[in-house]
Amino acid sequence: MNFETFNLHPSVMAGVRELGYSVPTPVQLQAIPLIMQGRDVIGLAQTGTGKTAAFVLPILERLRSSPQGGVRALIISPTRELAEQTCEVVNNLGSRTGLHSIAIYGGVSMQQQIRGLRNGAEIVTACPGRLLDHLWKGTISLSELEVLVIDEADRMFDMGFLPDVRNILRCILHKHQTLLFSATMPADIRRLAREILHDPVTVQVDPELPPKTVSHALYPVQQHLKTNLLKEILNRTSMESVLVFTRTKHRAERVAQQLVRAGYRVTSLQGDLPQSRRQAALEGFRNGSIKILVATDIAARGIDVLSISHVINYDMPENTDAYIHRSGRTGRVKKNGDAITFVTSADTDKISALERLLNARLKRLTLQGFDYARPAPDGQSHLSGQPRRHDIERKRLVKRNR
Ligand code: AMP
Repeated sequence: MNFETFNLHPSVMAGVRELGYSVPTPVQLQAIPLIMQGRDVIGLAQTGTGKTAAFVLPILERLRSSPQGGVRALIISPTRELAEQTCEVVNNLGSRTGLHSIAIYGGVSMQQQIRGLRNGAEIVTACPGRLLDHLWKGTISLSELEVLVIDEADRMFDMGFLPDVRNILRCILHKHQTLLFSATMPADIRRLAREILHDPVTVQVDPELPPKTVSHALYPVQQHLKTNLLKEILNRTSMESVLVFTRTKHRAERVAQQLVRAGYRVTSLQGDLPQSRRQAALEGFRNGSIKILVATDIAARGIDVLSISHVINYDMPENTDAYIHRSGRTGRVKKNGDAITFVTSADTDKISALERLLNARLKRLTLQGFDYARPAPDGQSHLSGQPRRHDIERKRLVKRNR
């Protein structure tokens, strides 16, 4: 199956090619034909499944065929980040369609958003609170709306936005197509779906899980002890080849340097490495002359080495999807693999999400004889893993962005 099957207009297909998509993902295969037929759809799919393009492509196809002004597609997103990300997907996939798109969220001036709306944005990606502000001020009209998408509905519910969403729905009085995407289906979302969708079809894709050949373990540890713990685990365990993941490229570099100083054959891979050095690093890792590769998620994309025996998450991955990708690097081709994750007290929510997805409690291990009580060197107390002041501020901002 390829994208040609959907019979998308060449201007839409140009966007698909530019993003390098060749094969539709399962949610795209199921949802795109139904949405193109005009059906209301409930999509049970997580981030990472390609769900955004699953609703964006049919929207582009529909809107480009009868160009006219006004907001014709509205995508409601729980967070500013998701709104921006979705708007970017619309802009990329729709770059040849002549359609315009803007993102609307709180915490920034309304003026630029008003200008974008006046300039004729047909596709709007919006967080509920700010969208209501525009509706109340009369700076946005939904009278031309043809397609409404409620994205990540369960997250919207978790963040307390369902009353806002209901208020928005009250402003759309005419018939339109409604698409609701959610990773899970709590009772309130089910009720909402029953109320607002017309004869919906449900498409469901199971979340991708790591191969059964991978065993998972968490090592609770304070941030400042992670490198020592890593060295100790490398010393004590027989490992064929090890992929270590860090959250930032600076940290990847620093950890690699610390391991080199401790006498390991190690290299690091970051996104901005020249191609020749990236190639050399990968070749060394592939042929076994380098045993340890330290990388970020982005830099590790496309690494195809079959014999990785251990993945070590020096930093807990941002989300379950990243965890699945990282741990899927080991345990390939019927070999067994180990995924080891260092966790601090700041990772509790992420651990719960991961355990929910894997439907299992992961084992917590401590390394016998390791000095877990060693204090942080001066000036590094902020690395304790506890949220810092600006992290708390950031969380507050998310609330305000609604
Ligand atoms: P999403 O679930 O919409 O957040 O998409 C997850 C990631 O998959 C994004 O980086 C998309 O660009 C990418 N993606 C979506 N559809 C495809 C496809 N058919 N082929 C390859 N990558 C895709």
